[in-house]
Amino acid sequence: MRRVRPSSHHTLGDMSAEEDTAEVVRETLDERVPALVHPGWAVRMPWLVQGTTTRGSGKEPFDLGRFAGASAPDRLDERWGHLLSATRVERAVLGRQVHGAEVRVHSDLGPGLHFDDVCDGHVTGQAGVLLAVTVADCVPVFLAAPDAGAVAVLHAGWRGAAAGVLERGLAVLKESLEVSVGDVLVHLGPSICGACYEVGPEVFEALEQSVPPTPLAIDLRDILARRAERAGVPTSAITVSTHCTRCTGSGLFSHRAGDRERQVGFIGARS
Ligand SMILES: [Zn+2]
Repeated sequence: MRRVRPSSHHTLGDMSAEEDTAEVVRETLDERVPALVHPGWAVRMPWLVQGTTTRGSGKEPFDLGRFAGASAPDRLDERWGHLLSATRVERAVLGRQVHGAEVRVHSDLGPGLHFDDVCDGHVTGQAGVLLAVTVADCVPVFLAAPDAGAVAVLHAGWRGAAAGVLERGLAVLKESLEVSVGDVLVHLGPSICGACYEVGPEVFEALEQSVPPTPLAIDLRDILARRAERAGVPTSAITVSTHCTRCTGSGLFSHRAGDRERQVGFIGARS
């Protein structure tokens, strides 16, 4: 059963404490770069740069996957340059993702693009840094602490979720920037939805769900929302994207649909 509730007009700030399910949010298209942006976060945190890129409307898909090999390196450099200029930041970081729970803190990053760390999550309190994860069905998990000006982004497929990448991201925010879990907003971004993501019993087992005898669809964002709640994030601080990489026609790349290209989930604070 879906626990997410339909989108409503109220803002994140005035939600009732009685709400017991995460709010569903339909991200809107940005004009400067093909990206789906959380509208409530954009209003609440004007200093924030956040979104998930799409394939765009150009002749070439807006692929940003550094390690997937679908685009020539010079075209990738151009698109990353476009993303940075559109978001008006001078530095970006993307890890070599391994479906693990390693989360890095970036505190003194120089200008340019940084692609060297092996990790699945990034945290920073430094303004002017764009943290990014590549995805194409997996969940881009966005964390923002408005009072501290701290942000994080995590790459969570089922393996990463089972390995605890979300909990690790929250722990690293606390350890490195003294951000309390209760002060963190969590957004589970565009990814494969609970109707489209059929997986084997081993995935249910790894995610500590009741194990079906045969393959069945699983809602990874719902599981991540519950894990966030269990870690101490208030339910009213959690939102879930309505966009699916397979079924909502949102112009997203899908690994399961055979796409080799990748979108990125990005977050940062303007300098
Ligand atoms: Zn779907």
